[in-house]
Amino acid sequence: MKQIVIISGKGGTGKTIITGAFAALAKNKVMADCDVDAADLHLLLQPEIKKRYEFKSGETAVIDQNKCIQCGKCIEVCRFSAITENRKPQTAHRIIIDPISCEGCAFCSLVCPVGAIKMKENTSGEWFISETRFGSLVHAKLGIAEENSGKLVPLVRQKAKEIAEKQNCDWVIIDGAPGIGCPVIASLSGIDCALVVTEPTLSGLHDADRVISVAKHFGVSVKLVINKYDLNEQMAGKIEKYCQDNNIQLIGKVSFDKSVVKAMVEGKTIIEYSDGKAKKEINQIWDRLESDFEE
Ligand code: SF4
Ligand code: SF4
Repeated sequence: MKQIVIISGKGGTGKTIITGAFAALAKNKVMADCDVDAADLHLLLQPEIKKRYEFKSGETAVIDQNKCIQCGKCIEVCRFSAITENRKPQTAHRIIIDPISCEGCAFCSLVCPVGAIKMKENTSGEWFISETRFGSLVHAKLGIAEENSGKLVPLVRQKAKEIAEKQNCDWVIIDGAPGIGCPVIASLSGIDCALVVTEPTLSGLHDADRVISVAKHFGVSVKLVINKYDLNEQMAGKIEKYCQDNNIQLIGKVSFDKSVVKAMVEGKTIIEYSDGKAKKEINQIWDRLESDFEE
């Protein structure tokens, strides 16, 4: 079984379009959406949720107002200014913890002389096992203002891998997180191939270079796709040269094709939607990828 992740140096390069197309093309696979901060693979794959789980991560301090004697010690020790006094007229004088600012260090609970502060586990989001018209999909949704995708991504990947092993699949196809932060690093560990999608712009090349450096640092084999290459063929040429100079396989180029957007609007992959240029080119990329692993 091979695990491939589709990543990009920044969002909006067409990474999910390519992932969705691979989901339609690969014969025997499980999909994972590790772009948990802005998951959108479900828009193309229209999953039917079969199992739903809470994702718990970190702790937040909570005050029992009935026990609090308002001594203010917790305010003094909180380095994150998460605790304040409510002294508004006409409301009860209370010590309040802002759950967004609280970093869960638990210092306040240790200094409270009356044991009024308890640490409560956070529910940061949910993760799901779903069925799609192309097979199983593991995906997740973070709660508002939650930033624990560095922990959620390995969970989503692990569950997708377990399902793929159980179903005897040949592929785990992963929509990775954009950028170079914690979630993308978590998307890369133990991967057989990272497919980097970029656009023919200077910033596209710069962002691709950064994410390629991260992938190489973790010893992951990298292949590159230039999406909408014909919008700036001169820049696409520079990216080709960059690939040659840095010994990176340019596995394909995809033309700008209006049917890609139309397919998205209809909740379909480009493979199902049209017989245009982009479909043929992505098809060729998948064939090359498959044959690279057969060699
Ligand atoms: S747990 Fe730490 S960060 Fe949160 S309120 Fe208490 S002292 Fe502040
Ligand atoms: S340390 Fe405990 S008793 Fe004192 S203000 Fe904070 S919560 Fe209330």
